[in-house]
Amino acid sequence: MVKLRKCVGKENLQRLNYLYQIGNIYAKSNCKQNNLLSSYYTNLMISISKKTVQRLEPNIKRNICKVCKNICVPGKNCKIRIKKQKIQYKCNICSSSKNYIAQQTYLWFDQTQSVNEILDYSQNKS
Ligand SMILES: [Zn+2]
Repeated sequence: MVKLRKCVGKENLQRLNYLYQIGNIYAKSNCKQNNLLSSYYTNLMISISKKTVQRLEPNIKRNICKVCKNICVPGKNCKIRIKKQKIQYKCNICSSSKNYIAQQTYLWFDQTQSVNEILDYSQNKS
């Protein structure tokens, strides 16, 4: 018999997911005023994750501008360039840039031995 574990902070994870999705929708829209809404929701998501001590996934954190807290959508509000094994994200709104190493397994999170356990919370099993 499979013992189903309780998901700690499930409501907070759902709230973070919702805020990221709505921030992403506003960042992808064409109106410039929606960039303010996107940065507001993303800033709210970051503050909730800090308050509830839940880490954001590194791929999500890389998509957020560190200065204006806007979600970077390539082609809309940010440029991505690859220079000498580095990926450069440049925000078009605040013109800040950040660099990451362009190595596929640079993050510990991307390596296969980093996965310890996979929890399945699909509703069909219970
Ligand atoms: Zn920015």
